[in-house]
Amino acid sequence: MLKSGRPGEPAGAFLYPARASVSPVSHGVTPHRKRSMAVALQITEPVLALGTESAFEVFARARRLEACGRTVIHLELGEPDAPTPPHILAAGVRALRNGATRYAPPAGLPELRSAIADSLRDRGVIASPEHVIVTSGAKPMLFYALLALVSPGDAVLVPDPGFPIYRSVATFAGARPLGYPVDAKWPGGINPEAIARLITHNTRVLVLNSPHNPTGTAIDAATLAELAELVCRHDLTVISDEIYHRLLFEGEHRSIAAFHGLAERTVIVDGFSKAYAMTGWRLGYGVMPVELARRIERFVINTTSCAPPFVQHAGIAALEGPQDCVMTLLDQLEAHRDLLVAGLNRLGFACPVPRGAFYAFPSVAPLLRELGLPADLFAAALLDELGLACLPGTGFGPGGADHLRLSFVASTLDLERALERLKTASEPVARAGSLS
Ligand code: PLP
Repeated sequence: MLKSGRPGEPAGAFLYPARASVSPVSHGVTPHRKRSMAVALQITEPVLALGTESAFEVFARARRLEACGRTVIHLELGEPDAPTPPHILAAGVRALRNGATRYAPPAGLPELRSAIADSLRDRGVIASPEHVIVTSGAKPMLFYALLALVSPGDAVLVPDPGFPIYRSVATFAGARPLGYPVDAKWPGGINPEAIARLITHNTRVLVLNSPHNPTGTAIDAATLAELAELVCRHDLTVISDEIYHRLLFEGEHRSIAAFHGLAERTVIVDGFSKAYAMTGWRLGYGVMPVELARRIERFVINTTSCAPPFVQHAGIAALEGPQDCVMTLLDQLEAHRDLLVAGLNRLGFACPVPRGAFYAFPSVAPLLRELGLPADLFAAALLDELGLACLPGTGFGPGGADHLRLSFVASTLDLERALERLKTASEPVARAGSLS
C-alpha cells in the first residue's frame, strides 16, 4: 500500500509498496479518499483494458538474456537495421544548432505540413497543408483519430491479424473492435465481402493497413475500389494506416483517399519511422478533412504541444531530399525477404511472399500441433532455448494463431542463423515425419 505522509515531510517518509494494489473504477469517477488513510491505487477501467504490443516485451526479455551473456538473433522489432540516412541526420543536427529547440506550432511546421501535402500526390491524393497534422510518431495519430471518431458502443473493423494497437485503442475508447480476416489467399489480402458481412448499424470506422503488418499483403487497386464503394454505401469513416507505403516491392501504392468522395471520410496515418529508419526520432502525421484536423490539433495541444521542431526539420529533409536511401533499403529488404521466405518454406513452414513491409508471417501450425504448444509458448521457447527473438502471431489477434512474425530487417547472416535455429526447433518433429 502507498502510505500518505504529512505535509512538509521529506520524500523519504513515503513508503512505496512492493506491488501496488489496483482496483478498477468507472471512467471519470474519482472516489473520495480520506487523507492519512492507506489508499488503494485507483486506475480506471479503460486504462486497465489498454492492450500492448508484444514486440517491446520480447525485446526487453531478449536484452535481459544478452545481459547474462547469451547471444540473441533479433527478428522481433519492426525497425530497419540501419542508421538514419546521413542527409536526414545532418538536417536534424543543423536545426538543433540553429536553435530549433523551442515550441513549434502544434499542427506542425508549415514547411513540413506543406512537404507532406505535396508528397501525397504520389499516392493519388490532393491535399493542402491544413489537412495535415504532425505528431510524435504515427502511433499518437492512430490514438487521436480513433478517440475522435468512435464513441462507446460503436463497432470498429480492424484487420485480423493486424497491428495490435488498433484493437487496443478502440477498446480504450469504449468501442468494440471486430476483426476482419487478412489472408494472402485474396489478391489484396482482403475480401471486401467478408468485411461487408461484419457491418451493422453500429459500425463507424474501418481500419485499413496496406502494406500490412504482419502479413506483408498489399491492397490492390480493384479491391481498393470495392472497399471505397462499401465505405460510402455504409457511411463509414476510414483510418488508413499507410506507414509502409514506400516499402512496396512491386507496383505503386494508392491510398483509398484517392477515390472519389473518400478524402472527405478518410484519415491517412503515416510516419517517418520505417522507410527513413527514424523509429527513435518519433515523427508521424495524419491527413484528414480540415474540420477534423482542427480537433486533432487540440489533442496535440493537450498532450505533447508539438513534435520537436528539429525532428520536423529532419522530416523535411527526408521528404524533399534524395530518395535513393529508400531504394537501397527496399533492394536490401527484397533480398532478405527472398532468403527468409524460401528458407521457411523449405523447412515446411508455409509462408506467402510478402508484397510490402518487412515481415514474414509463416504458419507453424503442424509443428505446434506436434509439440502441443500454442504459438506464444513456442516463441518464448525459441528465445529462451535457442536465442531467437520473434513474435507469436497470437499478439496480432485470433487470426494470427499458429503463426510467427519474423522481421527481415536483420543481416543475411542473422537470417541464415535464424533459419538454422528454426530447423533445430523443428528437427524432432521433422524426424517423426510430420513436416513436409
Ligand atoms: N502502424 C503500423 C502498422 C506499424 O507497424 C507501426 C510500428 O510498428 C506503427 C503504425 C507505428 O509507427 P511509429 O513508429 O511512427 O509510431
